Order: sequence, then C-alpha cells, then structure tokens
Amino acid sequence: MKKITSVCPYCGAGCKLKLVVDNGKIIRAEAADGETNQNELCLKGYYGWDFLNDTKLLTPRLTQPMIRYERGGKLTPVSWQEAIRYTAKRLSEIKAKFGPRAIMTTGSSRGTGNETNYVMQKFARGVLHTNNVDCCARVCHGPSVAGLQQTLGNGAMSNSIGDIENSRCLLVFGYNCADSHPIVARRVVKAKQNGAKIIVCDPRRIETARIADQHLQLKNGCNMALVNAFGYVLLEEKLYDQRYVTNFTTGLDAYREIVKDYAPEAVEHLTGVPARQVREAMRTYAAAPTATIMWGMGVTQFGQAVDVVKGLSSLALLTGNLGRENVGVGPVRGQNNVQGACDMGVIPNQFPGYQDVVDPHVRAKFAKAWGIDPAVMDDKVGVRITEVPHLALEGKVKAYYIMGEDPLQTEADLSLVRKGFEALDFVVVQDIFMTKTAEQADVLLPATSWGEHGGVFTCADRGFQRFEKAIEPQYDVKRDWEIISLIATEMGYPMHYDNNQQIWDEMRELCPLFYGVTYEKMGDMGHVQWPCPTLDHPGTRYLYKDNKFDTPDGKGLLFAAPWRAPAEVPDADFPLVLSTVREVGHYSCRSMTGNCAALQTLADEPGFVQINPHDAAQLGIKNRQLVWVESRRGKVISRADVNERVNTGCVYMTYQWWIGACNELTQDNLDPISKTPETKYCAVRVSAI
Ligand code: SF4
Repeated sequence: MKKITSVCPYCGAGCKLKLVVDNGKIIRAEAADGETNQNELCLKGYYGWDFLNDTKLLTPRLTQPMIRYERGGKLTPVSWQEAIRYTAKRLSEIKAKFGPRAIMTTGSSRGTGNETNYVMQKFARGVLHTNNVDCCARVCHGPSVAGLQQTLGNGAMSNSIGDIENSRCLLVFGYNCADSHPIVARRVVKAKQNGAKIIVCDPRRIETARIADQHLQLKNGCNMALVNAFGYVLLEEKLYDQRYVTNFTTGLDAYREIVKDYAPEAVEHLTGVPARQVREAMRTYAAAPTATIMWGMGVTQFGQAVDVVKGLSSLALLTGNLGRENVGVGPVRGQNNVQGACDMGVIPNQFPGYQDVVDPHVRAKFAKAWGIDPAVMDDKVGVRITEVPHLALEGKVKAYYIMGEDPLQTEADLSLVRKGFEALDFVVVQDIFMTKTAEQADVLLPATSWGEHGGVFTCADRGFQRFEKAIEPQYDVKRDWEIISLIATEMGYPMHYDNNQQIWDEMRELCPLFYGVTYEKMGDMGHVQWPCPTLDHPGTRYLYKDNKFDTPDGKGLLFAAPWRAPAEVPDADFPLVLSTVREVGHYSCRSMTGNCAALQTLADEPGFVQINPHDAAQLGIKNRQLVWVESRRGKVISRADVNERVNTGCVYMTYQWWIGACNELTQDNLDPISKTPETKYCAVRVSAI
C-alpha cells in the first residue's frame, strides 16, 4: 500500500490530499496538510477518485482512439498512429485552405495540469500559427481577469485563501462558497468565529447568509446599481480613505460623476435593498481594520460583469483594502486549474505569464525559443470559446480541437452551440469520457486522467502545487501533452518532451512572473504563489505590496459605470428569471463526479428547479412535482424544489444534467469585453406537468 500526494481536481480551493493505492487501485483519499485546506476536504475530495476504478456508472471512459471518417458515420477504433496521422492531415488541409484562424483550440481548466496547457497554446501559436486558444475561464471568471487587470494590473486574487479567516470583514458578493468551494466556506466560518463581520449580497438565502451579520437580498441583475450605491455611500459619508485615494489611485472625479446618481434611496426600487442596509453595509466595511471582498459567478455571468468587477475593486481601493495582509479582492476561481489555464496562456490575448500577443517583442521572444519565424505568428487577439458557434455559422471557423471541455453541455444556448457544431468541418475531442461533445467528434483522442499522470495545478490564490501520478492507466491512452506533441511532429514541427518537468522549465524560462517556481521549490507539499521572479524568491502571499499596482502608471483605477439591464427581461409570456447555480455534489459536466458512487448517490436525479413557495403556489406546483421549464430557446423537464431560500420571481437550476439541461434555456448575451455569457439571467416560464 502506498500514499501518493495529489491535489483535488474539483475546485480552485486546491486542497492537498493523499491517494491511498493498494494493488494498483485507489482505495481511499485522505486529507493532507496543504496550505489551503489544513487537513480538511469536502465530499468531492474524499470520494471523487472513484471513477479511476472504472465504475462505469454514467459515461464510459474513452479507451482507444476512434475516427468517424464520414459525417453521420460510425466512430471506428483505430491505432494511435492512424489517429495522429489523420488528425494532422485534416488540420493541415484546413489550415492550408482557410488559414490558421479557421482552427479553434481549447486548453483545459480541469485535471490535465499546467504543462499540458502550455503545450496546447504552443501548438496553437507555434504550429497552427493562431491565437485561437481559450478555456472555460471564458464562461466563468473571464470578467474577473479582464476587470482586475484594468483596475489593479493582475487578473487574479490579490490575497490568499489562508488569509480569509484573518480578515475582520468579508463582503461576499454573488458567491455561494458552501456549494462551489466548501473548504473556502470553512475559512469564512472561521473568520466569523474570529469575530469578523460578514456581509452577504445575494438574491438567494445561501448558506453563508445564515451566518452573516447582514444579508443584502438584492434583485437579480442589479449588481452594478448596488455596487455604485456602495461607492456613493463611501464618498457621501466620507467613509473612504482620502490619503490612500490621493496617493495610490486615479479616476476619482470620473468615479464620483457616475455614482452620484446612485444614492441608495434613489435606487432602492431597482436593487430591492433598503437604503439603510446599503449604508450600514458600507459603514461596516469601511470601519473594519482589514476587509476582503470575495465574489463568484453571481458577479461574472452577466452582460455587465467586467464593469461590476471593476466597481468591486474600486471599493477596495477607496478604503485602502489592498497591498497588505488579510485584505484584498478575491474572485475565487471555479474549476480546479482555471487559474493555471490562464497562467499558461490558453487565452486568446496573452502568452503564458500574461504577456500580450499583440506585443511584437513578446512574439519575437517566444518565436526564438520555439525556433520559428516570428513573421508566421498571429499578431491579433484570437477567438473566444463563446464566439465559436457564431463564427462557425459564418464559415470563419472550420475546425475545433477541444481538450477537456464539454461545450455541448456547458455553453449557453445549446441549440445555438449545436448548430455551430453542425457547421464545422472537423471536430477533434481529447478527453477521458464520452461526453456530449465527444459524441459529436470526428476524432476521439483518449487521454490519461488526473490520478494517472502528474503535473502542476494553480489554485485560486495563485498557488502552484504539484500533484503526482498514483496509478497506471488501464487503457490505450496517452498523456495530453504527448498527444499534442505527436500531432505537432506529424504536422512538421518536431515536438518532443520526456517528462512534465522539461515542459515546466521551458515555460519558466519564458515567463518572468513564474521563473522562480521550480519543481524542487514546490516539492511534495509546497504551495508557491506567483509572482515568484527569482530562484531565491519565496512567492507572493498578497499582491500590490506598498500599494504599487501593476498598471501603466502604477496606480489603482477607480471605475464606475451606469447600470445596464440584462438583455432578456421577464414579460407576460416568460414571467420568471432563470439563473444557473452550482450544486455541491457534482462538478462541471458531471462526467467525473457522476462516475463516483458516493457522489452520484448524493445527487442521482436530473437537477431540480428551485422555486419560491409563493411562485409555486401561484402556478399550482407542489414540491418535487415534475414541471416544464421553457424559454424562447428551449424547453426542459425538471422537478420542483420548492424552498424559501429562493427569492420570488426567480428560479434556479444547476447545469450538470443532460436531462433538464438548463443551458437549453440560457442565452448568450455576452459581456462586451470578456465575451462571457449572461447565464445568470434569462426569462422563462414554469408549468406543472
Ligand atoms: Fe476539492 Fe474544492 Fe472540495 Fe477542496 S473544496 S476537497 S478542492 S472540491
């Protein structure tokens, strides 16, 4: 029996654990003393390894390469040699005929690791010659990255998960940590036990609201109005730190000009929050010696998400809650390695280490290291995942190489996504399970899973952590980076790596932000936070020390914008708002957690639609009754979960389920900057069956 150090693959909390292996099988997981989890795990950490033992509960593992030679034909098992040859040939043909930007690729924010993401973006940029590479950050915290980069200079948590419990005030905005990051939720509880004030802004009475000092139950779709009202109170009541604002920020006059129209009393009808609660919240936040803002997808999955992120970071700037211990802004990233995927440049605007693709000096540096002519590199920002269906229908994207993502379940407005897929000439899916997207592939490339390979993940607080291989794969599968390297080589660009560390060291040499994060420094239980620019640097627990921001002028930018209504508001035909939410037992498209017996037992029925008792009574719907939920884009069956935690006028569904798939209903109104869809707001009707 042996115990292998790993990192949980299910959320950005980055909990360390030990996989206990006996006779080549994993028999249990034990909590380890990681920096973020301190010997604690949630249910997914304890029971989320079961699929590695080939449970076949839900979806089959991909066990060998397959090709569908004819559209509409069957997937045929083939050798690896044939799969690589065919994929390289088809991609080369499409590149030659339609140009590099006709091919879209994805990295993966899930269990594959940073090394693979580095190799995938190298393949896109250095072999295909396109910046068309993206990941699921686009549909979750893309607005946090874009907003924070503009106001503070870095698109990541400024603080550490470990510091949350030491903050004296937590402003938790649109973030249901109990369901999405249970171990972070433990930190919030500890903060409360340590005497912190907790302010929750959420339309639902989420778990954290139960321990909150204040719960501001705002109406759905009004985030910007409430954040502006917060800014109004800080300025009008002179609660802001005038010295800090003068010395370390810019933009106060423009900020004041916007928020002057958002007196809490004037926008009460819009936000639904009594003015006295808004004022009280800001008095508490501003008076705290240390205060932290945390947010989740209740902020980012709206058409005005980037503005709201900038508005939230402005509250921290106004009160001087940046650049020291136990304060800051914390967008807590969802999937386990979504921070790492962005770090490694599987985003269409930046190389690894957040180096801009439009900068010719940066392109020249990467071209030299990769041994290619800088002139062949793409000098424009690439396509985002959410733009693919539209560009495919316009004939501009022809091929899609998808690694470890399932857009046919997780993207907004699935009927649109399906039409986009039908318009594509060639779809390659590299995955571990036969997902909804894999079912549509022309080529299936089966990869090793977390547990069957090692590497480095980045957790939500910028901490790099190593995880080890625990067991040998049972099937004819290859490591993700190995598959990509074989295709690159077949396409005429020799790409050879012996192991993960070789890839990691190549990446470090090109990224000043990460240069000092060596394999040795991370070691067995290490957690090294970027920036870490030199070999003797210990890593950075909090950003912006001495209030030096990574913006062009070194100052933080204060920003407010007028509130915009969501794109599709309720009317007589579709009188309710639908918002997508998370559930604690399952993860992403459920292919991994749905194949774990304990987790599947916890939630084994297609997701519920949560509805307030008042709305349910009006519609004649009883608890657990089957219902139709319908929007202008689709209609799905679900089961009513009538509960008082839900606000009236809005219903909530989780997106993990194939039956009752809420993304049949959602719409793809995109934030104009981040291109993140507004999956937290569309109009629906619910009727009893
Ligand atoms: Fe895994 Fe997240 Fe749970 Fe930690 S909190 S055990 S990382 S799912």
